[in-house]
Amino acid sequence: MEDVGLADRIVGVVALDVAIELGAASHTGRVRRLNEDAYLARRHLALVADGMGGHACGDVASAHAVEALARIADREQLRPDEVQEAIGRANEAILTASREPGRGGMGTTLSGVALVDFGGSPHWLVFNIGDSRVYRVAHGTATQLTVDHSEVAELVALGRLSADEALRHPLRHVITRSLGTDPAPAPDVWIFPPGPDGDVFVACSDGLTNELTDTEIAAIVSAARGPRDAAAMLVDAAVEAGGRDNVTAVVLSAPPNADDDLDVATTPKEQGR
Ligand code: MG
Repeated sequence: MEDVGLADRIVGVVALDVAIELGAASHTGRVRRLNEDAYLARRHLALVADGMGGHACGDVASAHAVEALARIADREQLRPDEVQEAIGRANEAILTASREPGRGGMGTTLSGVALVDFGGSPHWLVFNIGDSRVYRVAHGTATQLTVDHSEVAELVALGRLSADEALRHPLRHVITRSLGTDPAPAPDVWIFPPGPDGDVFVACSDGLTNELTDTEIAAIVSAARGPRDAAAMLVDAAVEAGGRDNVTAVVLSAPPNADDDLDVATTPKEQGR
């Protein structure tokens, strides 16, 4: 089944030998004519890219980001530096494309999670540039792992705006870091081991989080029958709630005791790889 989404409404699911399950859904929404979001849900990688630039081809920028990461997605194992290098190549590809006439100024966010080999054992790598997000959902609660690179997030961090005010602030769509810039943007990166009870992550564009609260996201994911169901339900709920922007969600689920399964994937490192 298709696991790279660039079109109006695609649902992708991949089941892995390491028991990671993925689901994805994307929708143009009720207002925009074009879906500039893109996503990747393949093997060890789940990510979203929210392109911007409108007439300057935000959809081209987000597609470049997804393609650069898709090129490393089929490797047996991923290392953190490989993910970061792919993000660097995505930036280069967007810069190159933006030199074409009429495409100046295009860019994209990029947020996701990858299973990586870190120090010989499996770890989650969460990465972010811009205001798309990665959440971890556990015990009925959705915790935002990424930090938005946006004007309002910086005002909230400075104590000059409340989280509620930020939701309605006129600058809420202004992001302070994106792919497609020179010098290349530094992605935020977090690395941590798998949880003993398994892990569920949601990567999503701001079209989802501007329509649904963290509490609603947690309730939907907790009620879903699996990642595919969760992704479709999240996007449907955001469209139902207004759909004022493109909406994309990728859900990744790793079962309890994934550590045992994942050890298989890291064994080759001990053989000199
Ligand atoms: Mg958006």
